[in-house]
Amino acid sequence: MNLLFANDRPGYYPASFYADTRDAAPARPALKGEIRADVCVVGAGYTGLSAALHLARAGRRVVVLEAHRAGFGASGRNGGQIGSGQRLDMITLEKMMGRAVACRLWDMAEEAKVLTYALAAEAGVPTHRGIAHTARKASELRWLTEEAEHLATHYGYDKIDLLDRAATQALIPSPRFIGADFDRDAGHVHPLNLCLGLARLAEAAGAVLYEMSPVTQIAHGATANAPSRVETAAGHVIADQVILAANGYLDRLEPEIAARVMPINNYIVATEPLGARAQEVFTRDIAAHDLKFVVNYWRLHEDRLIFGGGETVSYRFPRDIAAKVRKPLEEIYPQLKGVRLTHAWGGTLAITVNRMPCFRRPAPNCLSASGFSGHGVALAIHAGRLMAEATTATGDGFDVMACLPQPAFPGGTRLRWPLLVAGMGWFSLRDRIGL
Ligand SMILES: Cc1cc2nc3c(=O)[nH]c(=O)nc-3n(C[C@H](O)[C@H](O)[C@H](O)COP(=O)(O)OP(=O)(O)OC[C@H]3O[C@@H](n4cnc5c(N)ncnc54)[C@H](O)[C@@H]3O)c2cc1C
Repeated sequence: MNLLFANDRPGYYPASFYADTRDAAPARPALKGEIRADVCVVGAGYTGLSAALHLARAGRRVVVLEAHRAGFGASGRNGGQIGSGQRLDMITLEKMMGRAVACRLWDMAEEAKVLTYALAAEAGVPTHRGIAHTARKASELRWLTEEAEHLATHYGYDKIDLLDRAATQALIPSPRFIGADFDRDAGHVHPLNLCLGLARLAEAAGAVLYEMSPVTQIAHGATANAPSRVETAAGHVIADQVILAANGYLDRLEPEIAARVMPINNYIVATEPLGARAQEVFTRDIAAHDLKFVVNYWRLHEDRLIFGGGETVSYRFPRDIAAKVRKPLEEIYPQLKGVRLTHAWGGTLAITVNRMPCFRRPAPNCLSASGFSGHGVALAIHAGRLMAEATTATGDGFDVMACLPQPAFPGGTRLRWPLLVAGMGWFSLRDRIGL
């Protein structure tokens, strides 16, 4: 079974709050016949659209092939949190890669945030600043404190405030948290509108998008100078370079990468408008997430709570997504017990073994970036720029990322899912019993 077609109606956005509140999204034609391009990008999420935008601005003829609609994948369905840093904290990254590489990774993550805010502003998509990371127990608060102090001392990042129990509850009126850190420069956004905004900018720069055009096969050029042929059902693109931006859906297109990048599904709900009760969620327009292994994340969109939590490792989304997500929502906000949920949807993201993204060159003239492990809003947009710079030989960021160790999941593409199910079951049990 192919995840691209497992859970959604082909060519339609899922029935999400985001799809119902999206900006204009003109339908683009499907690819027919032969097209010639300098670069063919596969996938119109943040990664692919950012690559297309930056390449088009550098004067390249770019064609983007999207299986469904621009923003159909994780980029149109996510929690909208624009986090600071990489998916792994800096103390861990220093232990893994040494100080020099860790510093470069921090700088790139900061560039990613700056780029994301700048492109959102250029596309006219509002962003909001502030993310709280909430602690339920002393060990979590100690960890948040240590990391915030480390960032201030060694990276000069002084935008994190540490909050005690009273300050946390004044900001997030939940009885569950004993403290938090509050990152003033992280933020949140309507994720689908951000993606549609990137599509507008890419097209304005000259990129050509085709929707309803799933790529079925790629015949890579044998040498760096030989063009590749990218096939869809009704046409093909002959391109000097190919950029793979298919993330959790990559699968059989590139099995060597798919063995390192595992798709998993995650779920979100939107509540009815809460009116004045929105103050019972947050007293300011910020976002939050907790520190559980299966993370809960939430924010307000005007007076609605958008709450994400719950994961599955299977092709199909569960039948009752709302019931699955209601549980952690009501655990954090018992005062919202029984609140009406107007939307519930699932999305497919991609994780890696070490939770750092997987940048690879599967062929001499092909680049791929995927596996942002739930931390991809800013980093995927940045990855697109890094791939554009690598293609035009104007930057080395892609090569730095490609040097990071990226082990295959045990069991390879065939057995990785059953093994991950076993592993995730253990970790979500730890969350439930509070270990
Ligand atoms: C529920 C959920 C919540 C999340 N919350 C957050 C968050 O709050 N903060 C954060 O930083 N990150 C979050 N993430 C992760 C983030 O959304 C992703 O890291 C990011 O969107 C990845 O962008 P992408 O462009 O690489 O992939 P995608 O957005 O998935 O795009 C891939 C695109 O490729 C297309 N495609 C795939 N295969 C083919 C093919 N063969 N032919 C043509 N097209 C193809 C797909 O249709 C899709 O549109 C979340 C993810 C999910 C699912």
